[in-house]
Amino acid sequence: MTETPPLVVDIDGTLTDDSRAVDPRVFPVLSEWPESVVVATGKAMPYPIALCEFVGTDYTVIGENGGVVFVEATDTLRIEGDKDACLAVAEAYRELGHEMGFGQVDLANRWRETEVVVDRSQPAEPLRRLAEEYGLEFLDTGYAYHVTDSRTNKGTGLETVCAELGLEPAAFLAVGDSVNDAPAFDVAGESVAVANADETALARADRVTEAGYADGFLEAVEPYR
Ligand SMILES: [Mg+2]
Repeated sequence: MTETPPLVVDIDGTLTDDSRAVDPRVFPVLSEWPESVVVATGKAMPYPIALCEFVGTDYTVIGENGGVVFVEATDTLRIEGDKDACLAVAEAYRELGHEMGFGQVDLANRWRETEVVVDRSQPAEPLRRLAEEYGLEFLDTGYAYHVTDSRTNKGTGLETVCAELGLEPAAFLAVGDSVNDAPAFDVAGESVAVANADETALARADRVTEAGYADGFLEAVEPYR
């Protein structure tokens, strides 16, 4: 059997089905994985932390596309990113007559510490232009538009995790579906895009699964199970 690598995995589009629900078949894969499992997402921290909590794995989490990193094993929290600039972009976007698109309560932004997200029902181009104007990065993950600090991403997040755990990014298997996974693909030793992945993720991955969504994740890890 092939030696099992540590795993860095995205949530939306990778552990989910096409309706954004996590596929329960991934739970035992994550909880029984014999090496480190890093959950790396564009979502705010409560989401990946809750996933780890209920699956029963250590909290080793990259949130907000690398803006926030938590490693439970070393009790380390890193928060990096220009939140003020992101909020200024959000304000300017609202002044143009657009909205974040998540309603009054806005759970998508409520617990966010380093970036802002806008629902994909809203216009992308004005947001992209504003992000550029403020020196920030615009990402369309297929699930939301993110305005984020260009100095942090899932690749820098993985490097932070590795420095804490005494691992090398090159030891990792990375699985994902979007442009925001590509920086982790670049530093991981093996990168796999699930079949539903966007163009950038497909181009930067070492291999692409035949199946999409969680079926693609299960296919990606099959050689190691
Ligand atoms: Mg994704």
